[in-house]
Amino acid sequence: MNEIRHFIAGKPVAEPSERSGDVFDPATGVISGRVAFADPEAVNEAVTSALDAFGEWRRSSLAQRTEVLFAFREMLVTRRDRLASLITSEHGKTLDDAAGEINRGLEVVEFVCGIPQLLKGAFSEQVSRGVDTYSLKQPVGVCAGITPFNFPAMVPLWMVPVAVACGNSFVLKPSEKDPSAANLLAEWFFEAGLPEGVFNVVHGDRQAVDALLAHPDVAAVSSVGSTPVARHIFQSAAASGKRVQALGGAKNHMVVLPDADLDAAADAAVSAGYGSAGQRCMAISVVVAVGDAGDALVERIRSRTLELSVGPGADEGSDMGPLVTGEHRAKVTSYVDAGALEGADLVVDGRTADVPGDGFFFGPSLFDHVTPAMSIYRDEIFGPVLVVVRAATFAEAVELINSNPYANGTALFTRDGGAARAFQNEIQVGMVGINVPIPVPVAFHSFGGWRNSLYGDLHVYGEDGISFFTRSKVVTARWPEGPSAGVSLTFPHG
Ligand code: NAD
Repeated sequence: MNEIRHFIAGKPVAEPSERSGDVFDPATGVISGRVAFADPEAVNEAVTSALDAFGEWRRSSLAQRTEVLFAFREMLVTRRDRLASLITSEHGKTLDDAAGEINRGLEVVEFVCGIPQLLKGAFSEQVSRGVDTYSLKQPVGVCAGITPFNFPAMVPLWMVPVAVACGNSFVLKPSEKDPSAANLLAEWFFEAGLPEGVFNVVHGDRQAVDALLAHPDVAAVSSVGSTPVARHIFQSAAASGKRVQALGGAKNHMVVLPDADLDAAADAAVSAGYGSAGQRCMAISVVVAVGDAGDALVERIRSRTLELSVGPGADEGSDMGPLVTGEHRAKVTSYVDAGALEGADLVVDGRTADVPGDGFFFGPSLFDHVTPAMSIYRDEIFGPVLVVVRAATFAEAVELINSNPYANGTALFTRDGGAARAFQNEIQVGMVGINVPIPVPVAFHSFGGWRNSLYGDLHVYGEDGISFFTRSKVVTARWPEGPSAGVSLTFPHG
């Protein structure tokens, strides 16, 4: 049995913890490991290690930091397959999906390899005679990250490289469902030359999170998870004076106008709806078919859905792996039951799909003629369940999205540039795709939603990430306009 321990001060903690949790292989349903659950003392040990390391690390040169980041980047590239297998073994997603999430995390590492450029301040010379004003971007201190199960490598990589590049130290509390990737990232960072204590990992549940939120030496909290947890983290961290960004859940709509390329739209809906078994915060979960696009679009999605092969993520032929736990599968099943009872048309029923008997598999499901009152529309299901809502007009589709409490991502499929322009202007959502179903921004822009999909103001990574992990200091300095007595300089223009 694999024992997953906290990683503090450059090594796994030797003593087992009193509380622990099961880690499953979702493809077999078998328990593959036990993960330590941190109590407040273990959290304090990690924060103390980070605080001890901070003083020296914040003084490190930019060259020292980039040397570590370039070495770490190289490891992610050359050891990608090893990390991808580890992710698949605990999360269940296909190896391609796992490699894909590593690539998106890698982009962030590459972005902060340019940290000398990103940390440049601004300088105003001679704001008054002999006075200059300049701004510095300095680290905030010990930062904490709380991350979800669905991207066990990518989401930590949204935060940790940015924070440490800015000169902070870090304590990560990854999901207890697939905790091993976080330890491997910490080991690699340490091997790449990051001094011990600059990046620590504590595992656990709410107890560990609450201990981090209450700890007086944690200066900033960056979290990603479901909306109720994001709200709790935002409120608790802000109440104790910490800087906080808390990304929440999602219900992402994809609008298809009648003039769209319906084959391309159906391909996009299927890959964005069922990829990673729908367990993506940017997954499409609602297709809004406008005008007479509906019947032809639903038929195209239906036929493609039936072709998907559901199987272990490690098998090359699998398009879709299992759900993360048996408990989560039961929740997804209950939503499909509810949708059928509420009167939606169940076009493809994942409950009766041909899926492997062991493990936490669930077939892709498709509902049509869904209304906003139904629970399958209202709630984030976070599984392979795609619902189609019919809208009479483009304006009705926009109004539907703008009324939804979630506002992470959205997409429009059309051939009409004017409609696309109106959509990008009027839609009240943080990330917008035009003929792109999953508009996750590249690393040099920032990622984040609006409304219940993000509490806080700064988005993650990109320039917002740099702002989140630094605080600005403005210096106003007066110096005599000439050299001190005894040093003589002659200036050509007097
Ligand atoms: P989750 O909210 O259950 O857990 C997220 C983290 O919070 C985990 O580390 C978990 O241990 C911790 N946690 C759980 N319950 C807690 C509590 N009561 N108090 C304090 N901490 C708690 O989320 P999950 O199931 O791991 O991940 C899926 C969710 O994350 C979905 O809602 C998804 O939309 C969301 N998500 C959002 C984004 C985004 O960018 N907005 C990205 C990825 C995932």
